[in-house]
Amino acid sequence: MKKTVSFSKRATNIFFHILTSCNLKCRHCYINKREHGTSTLPIDTIETWLTCFAHKNREANVIFLGGEPTLHPDLAQAIRKARSLHYQSVTVDTNGYLFHDFLSAISPSDVDFLSFSLDGATRKTNDFIRGEGCFDTCVAGIQKAVERGFSTSLIFTASRLNIHELDMMVPFIRKLGINRFFIQVIGIRGNPAAEKSSEELENPLQLTRDEWDRRIPTVAEKVAQSGIMVTYPKVFLDLDEPFECAGLVADNYFIFPNGRVYRCPLCEDFPLHSLAFRGDRLVPTEKINENDLFQLDIPEGCVMNKLIQPRNIKYREPGKPVYKIACCLLKETILPD
Ligand code: SF4
Ligand code: SF4
Repeated sequence: MKKTVSFSKRATNIFFHILTSCNLKCRHCYINKREHGTSTLPIDTIETWLTCFAHKNREANVIFLGGEPTLHPDLAQAIRKARSLHYQSVTVDTNGYLFHDFLSAISPSDVDFLSFSLDGATRKTNDFIRGEGCFDTCVAGIQKAVERGFSTSLIFTASRLNIHELDMMVPFIRKLGINRFFIQVIGIRGNPAAEKSSEELENPLQLTRDEWDRRIPTVAEKVAQSGIMVTYPKVFLDLDEPFECAGLVADNYFIFPNGRVYRCPLCEDFPLHSLAFRGDRLVPTEKINENDLFQLDIPEGCVMNKLIQPRNIKYREPGKPVYKIACCLLKETILPD
């Protein structure tokens, strides 16, 4: 098995939120309509913005997101536009409801991956997090996509609510015929950031370093041994491991329908975006923005993590953390033999 820890530094990655609306109300939803509005981008704007990034770098990957992107009536046209602009890869992240008869509107050659989000190996756990009926609908969507020859990924957002089912995901995704497995860490953005009850503050959804280290790498190895590529965030770094901020060394863009463009997903709850579309033009925003934060060098690693979720850092003594928090975009990937 080949294991790598890296940012994708050579390619440009476009995370394109074409709308913010969704049919679900997941407990950990990171979409913040107060910051990013409720609009659905018209297809001509999507095409213009895709063209802007395609010309920036020949090796660009695009991931269409929402909200739920299949709620957009012109998603198939947007995908074909991305193909015609020679994006290196085209992916759609979906909750599995596949609106507008989406699988009939595109063919497997139009997209590189359909990525389905499922947060449990059982109906009970998944639906507690994502909503009633979601497990059955998503599994049916995956089965249909696999039958029709689409390459599929599954995204599992690990938290205290579902970590007990991570082991069960290994035979489950194998049976479904999934090609890639992504384990994500729950972010303190959107709904999780709005948690205010004392019980939730005492028992946050996030896993501790011990819980993460005990479970995630072991299950990832098992997934790779079963022949499926697996990717998961690094999250914690020993003090002697190098820290890098993707905002300085990688080329990622998180686009929202109100025109905001972020380089760091942890900044998305704030008006800290460093770029914005003004009509058809992508322009830098005024200071202070996320770029100013990327420059700060602190012993805890990621500056944004320290600002918005300091509870996941432990200290030996004031100012001396036990470990560093990695950039949320730093991933470990294990390729099967
Ligand atoms: S499917 Fe995605 S966008 Fe919709 S509620 Fe769940 S996390 Fe939010
Ligand atoms: S998550 Fe932290 S380290 Fe990564 S881009 Fe954002 S500020 Fe930089």
